[in-house]
Amino acid sequence: MEAYDLQKAAAGFAAPGRIFDSHAHYDADAFHADRDTVLQSLYDRGVGRVLNCGSDLASSEKSLGLAEQYDWIYAAVGVHPEEIPRDESGAYRLPGASDRAALEGLAAHPKALAMGEIGLDYYWDTCPPREIQRAWLAFQLELAAERGMPVVIHDREAHGDTLELLQKYRPAGVVHCFSGSPEMAAEVVKLGMYVGLGGAATFKNARKAVEVAAMLPADRLLLETDAPYMAPVPFRGKRCDSALIAYTAARLAEIRGETPETLIARCRENACRMLGLPDWMPPAGGGSSPASKA
Ligand SMILES: [Zn+2]
Repeated sequence: MEAYDLQKAAAGFAAPGRIFDSHAHYDADAFHADRDTVLQSLYDRGVGRVLNCGSDLASSEKSLGLAEQYDWIYAAVGVHPEEIPRDESGAYRLPGASDRAALEGLAAHPKALAMGEIGLDYYWDTCPPREIQRAWLAFQLELAAERGMPVVIHDREAHGDTLELLQKYRPAGVVHCFSGSPEMAAEVVKLGMYVGLGGAATFKNARKAVEVAAMLPADRLLLETDAPYMAPVPFRGKRCDSALIAYTAARLAEIRGETPETLIARCRENACRMLGLPDWMPPAGGGSSPASKA
């Protein structure tokens, strides 16, 4: 494998507004002190659009707030497996009518373009019981199907159960921060879904992600950050923002044997197609900077 080429990565910064970050959390506390400064810097640092993903009702509402404030931010709304609510006794509870009403209300917002992030997380012992996680995922896959919305799927150490539910409900959407095998990626592609790869694909131990990046059809790959988490090498462990996606793009392009520019354009088209948005191409030379406007 070639050495990681920082200069090639930095080329991504030269073209303003061309990248779609398909997964970020700008509602997170990590951006509390300088959220607007960071967001307003993104366009000139390469990023033209962001899908901000909620992880519970409150953060989904904040995602919609950001989407109202910035016309180039879109929102996904949903309940993440680690954020499943508890009942009065403190036990994790199943979804009910009030959850349906709340999620339907959020999903009806014109800038709510996906349901997410939703999924299964079997990594932590402290996570809700698996059957409760599966019930919440099935419930939200049904809601997404009713509304014809794509989904943003979180799958950590739960590949078999995730794939089983995706094959049952056959949603449109993406499995984000994909950590499964190339065989699972092929199944996800067969369902017509997308595979999201982010900073984790640049890590030294990213053997599976590298294999997946190499085998994916060009029209099935999405670029993402998961900001403020998952900063790519050489920023691993630092706070991530969407502009660092250029480093991920450079690494993925290297793996796939294409230029970062081609990969960035392809992934932007893919994200637009998934979310039902028209593709865009900023004027040559940078032009105006819509992201700098609130
Ligand atoms: Zn996320």
